[in-house]
Amino acid sequence: MHRGDSMTQSVNQKFEAFKARGNLPSPRGVSLQIIQLADKEDSTIQQIARLINNDPALAGRVIKAANLLVRREGRPIASIMDAVSLLGIKSVRQLALSLSLVADFSAGPCKSFDYQKFWAHSACGGLAAQEVVTKTQLGVADEAFLLGMLAQIGRLTLATAFPPEYSQILERITDSDDLNAQEGAAFGLDHNQITALMLADWGMPKLFQDVALYIERPEASPLKEGERNWRLLQLFHFSEHLAEVCVAAPAARYRKIPRLMLLATRVGIETETLIEIGNHVAQGLREWGALLNIAAPDIPPFAEILNSASITPELLGVDDLPSGQNATYKLRILLVEDDRAIQLLYKALLEKAGHEVITANNGRAALEIVKTSPPQLIISDWIMPEMDGIEFCKELRKNPDWQRIYVFIVTAQESTEKLVEAFEAGVDDYLSKPINPRVLAARLRAAQRIIQMQETQEEDRLQLRQFADELAQSNKRLQALALTDALTGLPNRRHGMERIEQEWAVAARSGRPVCCMMVDIDRFKSINDTYGHLFGDEALKMVAASLRQTARKQDIVCRLGGEEFLVICIDTDEQAGFHYAERLRLHVASQPLQVQDKTLHLTVSIGVSANSGLKNADAMLQQADERLYAAKAAGRNCTIAK
Ligand code: GH3
Ligand code: MG
Ligand code: MG
Ligand code: MG
Repeated sequence: MHRGDSMTQSVNQKFEAFKARGNLPSPRGVSLQIIQLADKEDSTIQQIARLINNDPALAGRVIKAANLLVRREGRPIASIMDAVSLLGIKSVRQLALSLSLVADFSAGPCKSFDYQKFWAHSACGGLAAQEVVTKTQLGVADEAFLLGMLAQIGRLTLATAFPPEYSQILERITDSDDLNAQEGAAFGLDHNQITALMLADWGMPKLFQDVALYIERPEASPLKEGERNWRLLQLFHFSEHLAEVCVAAPAARYRKIPRLMLLATRVGIETETLIEIGNHVAQGLREWGALLNIAAPDIPPFAEILNSASITPELLGVDDLPSGQNATYKLRILLVEDDRAIQLLYKALLEKAGHEVITANNGRAALEIVKTSPPQLIISDWIMPEMDGIEFCKELRKNPDWQRIYVFIVTAQESTEKLVEAFEAGVDDYLSKPINPRVLAARLRAAQRIIQMQETQEEDRLQLRQFADELAQSNKRLQALALTDALTGLPNRRHGMERIEQEWAVAARSGRPVCCMMVDIDRFKSINDTYGHLFGDEALKMVAASLRQTARKQDIVCRLGGEEFLVICIDTDEQAGFHYAERLRLHVASQPLQVQDKTLHLTVSIGVSANSGLKNADAMLQQADERLYAAKAAGRNCTIAK
């Protein structure tokens, strides 16, 4: 036992005192011999079989019991030899022990101790343990049966050793904690301790003793959470409760249902399976009842029992659950689970941790919820009707908007290949059934970090994107500003100089003509002098507009500075350029400008030059400039192209 040495010693001393009273339940006759023989290392199956055959009544029951335990398809076990070789010496030893105890203690002097109910409970405990251990593949079924069967033997021991005293206690007690306390006070040991000591005395494995000691209070056990023996203890605790449900009177039975469902979810047994197990136990009880000659209580179908109880989080005992650390970052979680009790339990667990929980009963219903209000995280069961977890995840991931929802799948006992399949379907992580609240809290924290990071990243990305857009726009504006003349809105000198270089290069490559004209307003100084600078600005704008309007679309008209303009004419030689310049000049000259309340008649002089025979754009500009001066010299309001 996992107790301190001094404690163990005193417990052992008390037990020795017990034994000294001489009336503890113990196997007798042939059963005792079987046990003694089985404990010898060199005992053989033949010897054990021969011994059992010495007691025909026992032999008959061993064969029947072996058939119930082994449930071979087809040919039943017909001989003790078969029974012993199929069950093994160890199990036969325990079976002989159990059978002889039932035979000798089916009634007794302890008035308030219901011997029949005790054995019905024991059989149910054994049957439930056998079923559960088989379902979860955690242990050997016939061993589980025998341990489940003997797990409360301490009660019988007390009834046998102290009939009147124990009877009084049984009349007084209110609940099972109270029973243990009163037993301890009256006899120095409670029935769980006595069971463990009896099993030790009968040479049962250490694990049996550990389970017996803590079967009613697994939380007090020193076993490490999650390890195999700890899980076995949880299973036996559940089996024990199931046995209580089976033998309880109807009213008490229904009160025990919510806790049974809670325990089932804790060991990963879903409602459907619980119904199956319960029905098997009820059926088994009828068979064992007949074999052991005990009265089996009537147990209605388990579906009926479970449905009759209204399951609420309070009844599930959710308040007993360890509360996860309160969520620092509240998540909107979609919980997809077909099992009513499990759904309620997990929902309560998640809400207790501070999250918002929406539920769905299958993948299809979950998809509908995601469409209307997408969650941040999904916890989905694997096996569900309509649409299972994997199918659901595949559908979910088809929509790009739902790619980043964090998905947990809950698995029972899926193989590695199945898990790989789940990840390929797009799940992010998995949780093993039964969900351990502490593991869930830890995994949720990891998911929270990722979700939070993703969301911050997304915000940053959007902000960066917005910033880049703004930057691009303002760059565009700046660039336009840098290349535009503020007064006239025409391209400025800088733009003009860049463009003339480009057009020169294009023309040179394609062997086509390009020409330019320098346009200068005649005697503009006198306008400023007469009407003022602001008036001059208005006049400048109007000349600029007139030039832009008259020029061809593909040509570039810019203001070089002052009252001087440059026109770049694509695909135009000197002669065509001359005619074109004349058209511009005449247009300006022929149109009186209405500036404020004055009518002005402005003229321009133009110098034209084309690329033929020149070596670069500068030379062309230079030549146009010279020709403009020549035009001024020639009396103004004229064009010179040669
Ligand atoms: P010419 O026929 O010889 O070209 O005579 P002009 O008076 O036009 O020539 P000049 O180069 O002597 O004078 C140019 C004048 O243009 C000087 C200045 O008063 C005026 N001017 C230059 N830039 C601006 C401007 O941005 N706004 C205004 N209102 N006047 C300007
Ligand atoms: Mg399911
Ligand atoms: Mg001028
Ligand atoms: Mg000038």
